[in-house]
Amino acid sequence: MAKKFTLTNENYYTKEANEKYLSVSLYKMFFGTLGQKGCEVQAMAYINGDYKKEPTTAMLVGSYVDSYFEGTLENFKEIHPELFKRDGSLKSEFVQAEDIIKRIERDNKFMQYMSGEKQTIMTGELAGAQWKIKMDSYIPHRAIVDLKVVDDIYKPYYHKDTGRLNFIQERGYDFQLAVYQHIVEMNTGERLPCFIAAADKGKVTNIELIQITQGELDGALAGVEYGVNRINRIKNGEIQPERCGRCDYCKETKIIHKPISMSELLDFEG
Ligand SMILES: [Zn+2]
Repeated sequence: MAKKFTLTNENYYTKEANEKYLSVSLYKMFFGTLGQKGCEVQAMAYINGDYKKEPTTAMLVGSYVDSYFEGTLENFKEIHPELFKRDGSLKSEFVQAEDIIKRIERDNKFMQYMSGEKQTIMTGELAGAQWKIKMDSYIPHRAIVDLKVVDDIYKPYYHKDTGRLNFIQERGYDFQLAVYQHIVEMNTGERLPCFIAAADKGKVTNIELIQITQGELDGALAGVEYGVNRINRIKNGEIQPERCGRCDYCKETKIIHKPISMSELLDFEG
């Protein structure tokens, strides 16, 4: 009999957890978001443990602020020596993270939304797969809040096919909260309002609490059945994952079969 696997903070990002559960970040690795392309071969290589995603400085800044609110910043600093300069002081990006934290702490409403249970894990079924979620601030019976540290809260993103997008649409954060809302409802029977608590890295930090409406949440889940079905069939070996041709994993594993024409160099224009 297969041994029972219980998802915890310690094993949340392990290979075993990624094989057993789908997550918003895994799903985005396959299909991307409106603003960032995904890659099926890279996602499968990640699940199989053949590809490791190195966190960018921007991701580390986000994790720094997350871990402060979780109360685990000291441990986070210990396992990330790359936060520090040679003289032992914080690099400028993380000095800014400290300033962002201080700005957030000056706002009562923002702090109230961040006062929920931190990094709460739940699992549940959505669109024919088991998903795992980890919420930044879960306020039982009240709200689901995800903290985001972004470049500029009011910056628009342009794409030929989508037009103007805000950072939430660009990064698929509406999809993320829609999945969280569904899994929480599966576990508790309660459908909770969803918010992004955003702080930015402008010269003067801007902060905002942004509610994603129910209509926007429902819209963000359009197509998830198709996506999950495709991931399941790729995992079963029924279909081959597609190469995006642009990501680091595709570059690393590329084999040239024939020359391309000059005009193809602009085919990927985003
Ligand atoms: Zn790729």
